[in-house]
Amino acid sequence: MIDSYRHKGQRRALVRLLSEKGITDEAVLSAINKVPRHFFFESSFEEHAYQDKAFPIGEGQTISQPYTVAFQSQLLQIRPGDKVLEVGTGSGYQACVLLEMGAKLYTIEYNEVLFHRTKSFLPSMGYQPHFFLGDGSKGLPHFAPFDKIIVTAGAPQIPLSLIDQLKVLGKLIIPVGDKKSQKMIRLTKQEELKVSKESFDNFSFVPLLGKEGWVK
Ligand code: SAM
Repeated sequence: MIDSYRHKGQRRALVRLLSEKGITDEAVLSAINKVPRHFFFESSFEEHAYQDKAFPIGEGQTISQPYTVAFQSQLLQIRPGDKVLEVGTGSGYQACVLLEMGAKLYTIEYNEVLFHRTKSFLPSMGYQPHFFLGDGSKGLPHFAPFDKIIVTAGAPQIPLSLIDQLKVLGKLIIPVGDKKSQKMIRLTKQEELKVSKESFDNFSFVPLLGKEGWVK
């Protein structure tokens, strides 16, 4: 795996594009500038790595579009040391961005093939989150509470288990809607039994499966 000057230049151009599209958090832009996204692509598809688009990663799933990764990461307002749960490990690209931002990351994937592939691949790049295989719509109760939770698949509603597993003042970022289009939601737990909700743009994610997602 080679990260050449050409790749680094393409990455800087992608970062410029993301800031033109409205990403302002320097920690997010700096993390995206560091993670070699082309490592997630087979060499014959490498030219797609620094375009701002999602790409198939097998098993009917996708590596999210860089703008989407940046947008969700910005909404999370990560502070170094935050304990973060990611639901939907997928390729592991979003996980690397969060780790570069200083998150202590717990990431859970439902698809067994992707789980094994990413769990063995990420450490070879020097990234080592805590990996879990299972239904992330139920969260990770044994490791809760979390400062932040990010869901990278589209949910029919906000899973109550995830709200339960947030710390007070914790934030949950989740796309919610039908199978075609979802609104990005940021939920903040103001007090133990009180949450506030903000709505952002529409996105299009693959469905969140499982007990509190779309039933498999
Ligand atoms: N974060 C990923 C990345 O950086 O490549 C993108 C993830 S992809 C858009 C969504 C992922 O969520 C898929 O890998 C899918 O298998 C996974 N997923 C769907 N339902 C899930 C669930 N209930 N628990 C955990 N993962 C789930």
